[in-house]
Amino acid sequence: MVVGELAEPVDLLVVGGGPGGYVAALRAAQLGRDVLLVERAGGSAGLGGSCLHVGCIPSKALIELADSAHHARAMAVAGLAVEGLQVDLARFQAFKGDIVGSLAAGIAGLCARQGIRVVAGELRFNRPDRAAVRTPDGQVRFFEFRQAIVATGSRPAVLPALPVDGERVLDSTGALALDAVPRSVAVVGAGYIGLELGTALAKLGAHVTIVEALDRVLPTFDPALSRPVERCLERLGVPLRLGARAAGLDGDDLVVEDAAGEARVSAEKVIIAVGRVPNTDELGLERAGVAIGGDGLVPVDAARRATPRIAAVGDVVAGPALAHKASAEGVVAAEALSGHPAAFDPTAIPAIVFCDPEVATTGLSEGEARAAGLQVDVGTFPLAASGRAATLLAREGFVRVVAERGADRIVGVQIVGAHASELISEGTLAVEMMASPEDLAGTIHPHPTLSEGLAEAVELLLGRPVHVSA
Ligand code: FAD
Repeated sequence: MVVGELAEPVDLLVVGGGPGGYVAALRAAQLGRDVLLVERAGGSAGLGGSCLHVGCIPSKALIELADSAHHARAMAVAGLAVEGLQVDLARFQAFKGDIVGSLAAGIAGLCARQGIRVVAGELRFNRPDRAAVRTPDGQVRFFEFRQAIVATGSRPAVLPALPVDGERVLDSTGALALDAVPRSVAVVGAGYIGLELGTALAKLGAHVTIVEALDRVLPTFDPALSRPVERCLERLGVPLRLGARAAGLDGDDLVVEDAAGEARVSAEKVIIAVGRVPNTDELGLERAGVAIGGDGLVPVDAARRATPRIAAVGDVVAGPALAHKASAEGVVAAEALSGHPAAFDPTAIPAIVFCDPEVATTGLSEGEARAAGLQVDVGTFPLAASGRAATLLAREGFVRVVAERGADRIVGVQIVGAHASELISEGTLAVEMMASPEDLAGTIHPHPTLSEGLAEAVELLLGRPVHVSA
């Protein structure tokens, strides 16, 4: 039913309640803007977006469970005997639901305290200054806005040969909702989402096979970072079918094609993790005067403006599809649309893969720096030489620091190893602050910690290593 054509005036309209949208809304409200946030999935079910409900947080909760079980078993070598360790994924789902629910309620509380109005419903633009929202009860409300921020995120890409049915063939959302550990799982796609899910399910006891069309796992990362992960997957008993394409189902098997021909992979469940598609196709953006590229992304300027009155942030614009990138862009868009000087700087966007060992990067890799024409010095410290890594049973991996010679500044850090996700922020700060190698080397790092690896890598780069030979 259409309530009426009368449009409600809105100062700043934010579309999408994910880490791009809700952070933009909060920043704009802090700046005195009157903000209306429209979220398709509603308040508590939607605020936090894919990240909170079906992405970052649920996946990290599952990985924590899997790592705890794996570590407990691995610690047998150090004298820990764990009898009858059992995994109850149904219980896990309730635990995960509590975490997600409390965090979503927290975001709703923040929005309420800032005076942000949250409307549940699906938005489509009708004109450059007008949008319609279909609410869950079927009504349509119209809004006339002064400015808008589009933060509608992305959804899993599909494979026509393997349509997701939510039973046998799952996307990442279905995989994170499993209430029992499958006997066998084929993960199609060895990007970060596929690797994280595959590694976790293998540690929980499933027989996992990873199928990847390219010739290595994490194909968008520096090749040096893939190798320790491949070795760990081998130790976990996860077969890698590299250079192979998933072609369809045949009984209990997934059919896989590679250069050698056709093969079968046992798969009670198949998880499709072949990328994400931006949610820009059903938004009526063309009627708002917003262009959409061939890749479905919205072209934006440094302030994230797509038109003088409409900005776009997060997974709908170019760059890594990551929550913290979406939030950083949300802040920039809110400030720029509110008349403040602001521009998004992509120099050091950390990227993390929570596989085993964890992979974390920031700034430029050695290859990227050389391709950009920089002369570089590189220091790589193997975690096999770290005392703390030994106590953690985590000696696989390394810390690498890349510095621009002459300019005397750190331009990138890559870490493969335990807790790389926590360690990378020191590297990001170093790149952001244009720290020199001497700055990092002269910073006293506590012993015994994995953070010493950064200082050791820099000492190597400077040609005066302490705990390894040059
Ligand atoms: P989203 O979070 O997707 O939010 C968009 C919101 O817009 C959604 O809530 C949607 O319902 C709403 N919406 C869409 N269309 C409309 C419409 N027409 N009207 C109204 N509302 C609409 N990133 C990390 O940084 N770290 C991680 O560890 C990580 N792990 C991940 C694990 C998985 C399994 C997945 C799938 C993703 C992961 N990501 C991770 C990526 C991260 O979730 C996204 O990059 C991030 O959520 C993007 O934020 P966003 O605000 O652009 O969009």
